Amino acid sequence: MTIDSRPMFSKVALVGIGLIGSSMAHAMRRAGLAAHIAGYAHRAATRDKARAIGFADSLPESLATAVKDADLVVLATPVGTYGALAREMAGDLKRGAILTDVGSVKTAVLRDVGPFVPEGVHFIPAHPIAGTEQSGPEAGFAELFDGRWCILTPPVGADPQMIERLRSFWQRLGSNVEVMDPKHHDLVLAITSHVPHLIAYNIVGTAADLETVTESEVIKFSAGGFRDFTRIAASDPTMWRDVFLNNREAVLEMLGRFTEDLSALQRAIRWGDADMLFELFTRTRAIRRSIVDAGQDIGEPNFGRSKKKG
Ligand code: NAP
Repeated sequence: MTIDSRPMFSKVALVGIGLIGSSMAHAMRRAGLAAHIAGYAHRAATRDKARAIGFADSLPESLATAVKDADLVVLATPVGTYGALAREMAGDLKRGAILTDVGSVKTAVLRDVGPFVPEGVHFIPAHPIAGTEQSGPEAGFAELFDGRWCILTPPVGADPQMIERLRSFWQRLGSNVEVMDPKHHDLVLAITSHVPHLIAYNIVGTAADLETVTESEVIKFSAGGFRDFTRIAASDPTMWRDVFLNNREAVLEMLGRFTEDLSALQRAIRWGDADMLFELFTRTRAIRRSIVDAGQDIGEPNFGRSKKKG
């Protein structure tokens, strides 16, 4: 692949410089996509950490200064903060700029940010399907988006040229790009990401509250499966609280399906329905294989953990 090294944007403002914002800065630097990267975080301690790492060209204290003259502004804070931030920065956005985000829900983002987007600013929400359980500016790295998908959910009437510009930006950050209806995005992500996180939060919470099995036993014997849930359940509490509050309908719909299927499994165990269990476990194993074949995970046993540490 030949990489076009000309900057696409003269100034990019990252509103939020945690895992996703800082990873975007690293990946933009790698591909030479911005002549100037401005990073904004509301806490001075976060800006100090970012300054020490050095992924931004400026780290202004004020949001207005960060977004001023930017051709691309990216909201990369928890989605519950978007509305207030959009309202605060609206008057400082440059006409002709693209305003985008990286939030894990999309219908609520259009609802909360849309009303504050000034005339002449192109609002095109996006969601990179990439992340880790870590957060903060020190968690970011340039390769986070490589080979992962980024979903764009432009509102009706969005300028097709600007959609293509954002598509090209994400491709140069390393991603594959798909355009999707926001409501459909929220349903897909409810089952592929939000419900799995809820299950992980729930199982880790249940294990911690058990009286008959001690917490030290849960930790000691976690390699039996439990520890893989704890990775997901270690994800940022603020971000995930906001995801569930802002994708309520789709999550509840998928949870309904999930609990029905769980009841069917419970029944199969109670009545010794071996065929049902075997058939389901065979189908799910094939899905794991498809994910590895699609390059969305490594195929090594136990996620590639060393045999010794297993
Ligand atoms: P993060 O590492 O916790 O970083 C959040 C950033 O937002 C920090 O810079 C934080 O600054 C800032 N922030 C928080 N509240 C703010 C406020 N009220 N005003 C201004 N800045 C504020 O979070 P992240 O993982 O990068 O997630 C950011 C967004 O990406 C979320 O919307 C999330 O849904 C989305 N996303 C996350 C993942 C993932 O796996 N983590 C994947 C895809 C998309 P301070 O440190 O100063 O508070």
